[in-house]
This record gives sequence, C-alpha cells and structure tokens, in this order.
Amino acid sequence: NREIHLASRPEGWPTPENFRLVTTEVPTPGPGQVVVRNRFMSVDPYMRGRMNDVKSYVPPFALDAPLDGGAIGEVVAGEAGDVKPGDTVLHGLGWREYALVDAKGVRKVDPGLAPVTAYLGVLGMTGLTAYAGLLDVAAMKPGETVFVSGAAGAVGSMVGQIAKLRGAGRVIGSAGSPAKVERLTALGFDAAFDYHDGPVYKQLRAAAPDGVDVYFDNVGGEHLEAAIGAMNLHGRAAICGMIAQYNATEPPAAPRNLALVIGKRLTLRGFLVGDHGHLREQFVQEVAGWLREGRLSYDETIVDGIEQAPEAFLGLLRGENLGKMLVRL
Ligand code: NDP
Repeated sequence: NREIHLASRPEGWPTPENFRLVTTEVPTPGPGQVVVRNRFMSVDPYMRGRMNDVKSYVPPFALDAPLDGGAIGEVVAGEAGDVKPGDTVLHGLGWREYALVDAKGVRKVDPGLAPVTAYLGVLGMTGLTAYAGLLDVAAMKPGETVFVSGAAGAVGSMVGQIAKLRGAGRVIGSAGSPAKVERLTALGFDAAFDYHDGPVYKQLRAAAPDGVDVYFDNVGGEHLEAAIGAMNLHGRAAICGMIAQYNATEPPAAPRNLALVIGKRLTLRGFLVGDHGHLREQFVQEVAGWLREGRLSYDETIVDGIEQAPEAFLGLLRGENLGKMLVRL
C-alpha cells in the first residue's frame, strides 16, 4: 500500500516537498471495518485550507499522516452490515491505495448506473455544490442573468449548465485560458472570457450589459468586486469558494466596493455543501435525467498513479484541470 503524507505545512504556494510518498502494509479489517482498494480519488481546492494549522469547518490535516478526501473503490476484505467484498463504495479516505474504513461510513453505489468517477464529480459532492448553491442559496429564477467564476472547473461548469437548463436568461463564465473559454461556449454559456485578458469588471460589463442577477463565486477577490459592481437591484451571490486567495500570504485587496451591497440591497451568502444533503435525492434525479438525455456534459482531468497525486493537487491550484480533477489509483 502506498499513501501520501503531509510532510510539512505549505506557506503560500505548496511545493512537492510538502508531500511524502510512504509505503505501508495493506491493512487488515477489524470488526465493523472493510478494506477498500481505491480506484479514483477526488482532488479539491478546500484541501489547501486543511494544510494550514488553523481552526476551520474541517480539522487540519496532521503532519506525517496520510491526507484524506473523497474516494471510490471496491471492497476487497471484511464484511459488515450490508457491505461486502466486491461492492463499489464511496468514502472519505483517499490519498492511499488501500483504505481501512468503518463500514458505517461508506456509501454503496451502483457501478452499472454511471461511470464510477461520476460519483465523485457530477453526481457527487461537486454536482451538489453547484445545484444547491445556484438553486437554493442564490435562488436563481428563470430569465435571470447568471455569472459564474471558475467556470471551466468542476463546480463552475455544472453551475453554468444547470443555470441554462433551469431557464436562466443569460449565463456568463470566466476562466483562465482561451481553450477553457472555448469549452464554455461549447457547453452553452452565452458569453465567456479569460480573466487574464483585462480587468474582470470591464470584461463582465461587456458580457452582461444589462447587469447580473446571480453571481456564483468560486474565486473571490477581483472577481467578487466585479460581480458586486455589475449586480442588479436585489442581486444574490452564492459564495462558494475564493480560490484566488487560498495560497495568499497577504489579505486580499478586493472587494473594495462592498458598500454597494446597501444601495443595491444585495445578498451575499456563504454556504457549505454539507448543509444541503436534504437536496441530494432531488439533485441526483434531475441531474441523472439531464445526463441520460445528453443535455448536460462534464469534463474530467485524470492523472494516473498515487505518486502523482501531489502534482495533481498543485496542477489544480494552477488551473491545469478542465472539469473535475481526479487521480486514478
Ligand atoms: P475547480 O475544478 O474549479 O479547480 C480549481 C480552478 O480554480 C482551477 O482549475 C483554476 O482554473 C481556478 N483558479 C485557480 N487559481 C485561480 C485564481 N487566482 N483566479 C481565478 N481562478 C483560479 O475546483 P472545484 O470545482 O472543485 O472548486 C471550485 C470552487 O468551489 C473552489 O473555490 C472550492 O473551494 C469551492 N468549493 C466549495 C464547496 C462548498 O461547500 N462551499 C464545495 C466544493 C468546492 P482557471 O484556469 O480558470 O484559473
């Protein structure tokens, strides 16, 4: 069994030296436990926050211990409750090839219904984040104009497509390369721009001449400032993530225009996907339907091998992924 440990806490941008590949024995299950041969693990921006030794909504990763995060694989040993060898299960102990997990903490999935990677992305936590943030937190209504940042990423690409499928009037996305902008147009976004091409507020004003009703924020900083500037009266922002500042060592310079929230009566609402589990069934039904009908697409960037997992994580922070970043183990 090989696993990735946190060797030291990054200051600013993480480097490969912050991680260590460690070989251990394949674990043996005790009562109530199963061993899972992980096949895919999710790579997520929030993992950066857990590398800092600070109190947050998830505890920090421990030093010299394996990292963890969403993973899917097959049970290879142990049997407990209705979980038995051969089952495909979703659980929280990624960053290792073999995981020893409490059978109560796994969720069985049907590998015949969808490609297993979908359970980590479009039909999993990623998709629910997009769905809940857009429809519940920001309460998007048909006809409205929606702006999403990080739009070619796992969450962002779902937000834009779900907005269109739920009747948004106009959907605008921003992303970090010309190829990503092209992809957004192919996915049905009405307008898209590369945030490197000029100030975000200028590009957003050109893409949304009638203003923005809903902003789905994955980035923070300059993007949030631009969105506040472009938002219409009673606009709502779902504050999902602020990846532009996860590696920052200084507080962000923007948004500087927060006072506009008053006159425009804006709502800026932060949320965590974990609080929206009640929507899961409705979400899976609706999104699985769109997938079946070919009305929703999802991209994946798959990196091979546990030894490449730190590189996959660094690549995610650098924007090397289109859609969901995954490691095949
Ligand atoms: P993504 O697939 O979107 O990957 C991250 C992307 O962020 C990169 O591909 C890169 O794309 C972009 N990025 C990196 N640095 C910057 C920057 N300085 N400015 C603008 N864009 C940048 O990841 P996810 O879809 O998994 O997550 C998206 C966001 O949602 C994150 O902020 C994450 O923390 C948040 N999140 C929040 C949850 C919640 O419950 N609140 C749950 C899940 C995710 P590019 O090439 O375009 O720069």
